[in-house]
Amino acid sequence: MTLRGRLTTAFLVVVFGPLLLGSIFVAMTVATVSQDRTAERLDHAATTVRTSIGAICRQLQAAADAVAVVPAADREAVARQLVTRGLASDIQVSPATPADGADCAEPTGKPASSIAAGATAGSVTIIAAQAVDGDFLARLAATSGARIAFGGRAAPESRTLSAGPGQPLPLTLTVHKSNPTFLYAVLLAVVLAAGGAAVVVARWLAHSTTRPLGDLAHAADQVAGGDLDTRVPIVRPDELGRLAATFNRMTRELKAYVQALTASRDQLRGHLAILGETLSSTHDVDRILQVILRTALAATGARAGLVLLLDPARGELVARCAVGLTGSWDVPESELPKLRLPVGPGVLGGVAAAGEARRGPGEVGSIEPPCRTYVAVPIRAPLMEDPFTEDVGPATLGVLALYDRVGGDEFDDADLHTLRTFAGQAGIAVHNVRVHEEAQRLSLTDPLTGLWNYRYLRESLRREVERASRFGRMLAVLVLDLDHFKEVNDTYGHAAGDAVLGEFARRIRIGLREVDVAFRQGGEEFVVLLPETDAYGGAIVAERLGAAVRERPVMVEGRGAISITVSIGVAVFPEHGADAQRVLDAADDALYAAKNAGRDTYRLAALATGVPEVNFDPTATTTGGPQPPRQARGR
Ligand code: GH3
Ligand code: MG
Ligand code: MG
Repeated sequence: MTLRGRLTTAFLVVVFGPLLLGSIFVAMTVATVSQDRTAERLDHAATTVRTSIGAICRQLQAAADAVAVVPAADREAVARQLVTRGLASDIQVSPATPADGADCAEPTGKPASSIAAGATAGSVTIIAAQAVDGDFLARLAATSGARIAFGGRAAPESRTLSAGPGQPLPLTLTVHKSNPTFLYAVLLAVVLAAGGAAVVVARWLAHSTTRPLGDLAHAADQVAGGDLDTRVPIVRPDELGRLAATFNRMTRELKAYVQALTASRDQLRGHLAILGETLSSTHDVDRILQVILRTALAATGARAGLVLLLDPARGELVARCAVGLTGSWDVPESELPKLRLPVGPGVLGGVAAAGEARRGPGEVGSIEPPCRTYVAVPIRAPLMEDPFTEDVGPATLGVLALYDRVGGDEFDDADLHTLRTFAGQAGIAVHNVRVHEEAQRLSLTDPLTGLWNYRYLRESLRREVERASRFGRMLAVLVLDLDHFKEVNDTYGHAAGDAVLGEFARRIRIGLREVDVAFRQGGEEFVVLLPETDAYGGAIVAERLGAAVRERPVMVEGRGAISITVSIGVAVFPEHGADAQRVLDAADDALYAAKNAGRDTYRLAALATGVPEVNFDPTATTTGGPQPPRQARGR
């Protein structure tokens, strides 16, 4: 059954029940009133009849008495006179036969054709009678308002008057029963009219109630189908009107919410695309972490975020990228590495130490970024299966933390899950970058000496020449070659030769500034780049390195002290070569010159313009040290 049917039925039951009950009550009342009125009329008729017959009896008695008191001779005449005057229909003096009328004084209770009353005067009996005929009964009926008959059946509309003193006749009074049929008809008509009106009103009410609901159901269908522009018409400002208004508002807000969600999803997609692109295109850890952090912020709706990486040497967490932080943590990107936290204490230190995620309300007075709520997860290196070592689980590389979700809610499990995913990405990225850096370092370094190899020399030389060229600076290039090294090998063995090479490399390293770079070019040949250094500076370094080798023989285990010397060629960019290759070639030529000069010495390259090379012979150091090239060239 539909809602409309149920509403109609309920309304009809509610209206028809009381209507029918009321009708039955009215009908019963009408019947009772009708019976009461019949009884009243019968009472009235009976009283009237008794009174009338009683008066007739008294009148007859008076007539008989009047005849009795007059002299005997006049009695007949008086009797006739009284009859004539209508006091009795007949007056007999000493009747021959006993009177057959009903005696007023001593009624027999049987029907009789007359009513009589008697009087005596000595032995004379006088009977005055009133005939009870049709006319008599008709008059009586007219007076009482009831039909009058002798005897008869007892009926609701009849009453029997039994004979008694003053009323000698047994009579039956019948009145017209009052007929309420018309009232019943009116009542029925009213009930039917009310019923018809109730049906009409019920249908209208049900229709007007269910139509907005139908509209609402239709609109809900449309919304469920994705049409968020659907609106329900508000017909009346009643409860259903309010429901429709609420539905419309809900749909409007749903649309705004969906739009916001779509925008946020698009934004997240954009971030993920950038993340994917960044991960695949760069090995710049800070840039990768920045993109991961921004994507995590977009995914969780957090206000601020921070990534710290572990500095194992100092056991500290170092801030690497931050977004939206306030207070002492709101610093320029270049200042971030100065923000350090110990591993262990606090939220971030605890996450790094335990390797467990944490979330909750911010800790007041903490040295960590100020916030209302936070969620922090460890950044771990991916688990590597190493059959030779015991698996100790992934190492913690750092911590990824988000602060204050926009909207005020605390971070929930879903946020934690999301953040773990991003921390996983960050862990893989950082690990990959470090592996890549290590691989690159290995591919660019010489395993025997730990110096950069020839490959890296070419790249570094090109880069340094470019930089020097851009900033108008000089760059000194030293090429070093051990003297008669073949003999070292031949005399002490190849392993001892290796040890000598390693020690030679070490002495080069410690004899250089931090910005200088040393390379093993191959065999027993080395190159040193001295940024921002002119020929004079290059000569000083060459002299120092030569002395470092010459003055202290190399101690090789099992072989004793091995004395070696080195020859060095020095060239300067841009004086001796306009590009990387030329300056390197010039240094090689200078080395060749040093070898030719008897070894254990250095030579400065010839000027590119053809100026002859100048020699700062180390032997000269004994008489005054190396001369500046400019002086040597007489400039
Ligand atoms: P010169 O003074 O003219 O430079 O003489 P030299 O003997 O050093 O010159 P040469 O180039 O003929 O010999 C270089 C030797 O260096 C040859 C090789 O045995 C040795 N050598 C090259 N690389 C290595 C290495 O990695 N380890 C060892 N132990 N010896 C090496
Ligand atoms: Mg050589
Ligand atoms: Mg050599």
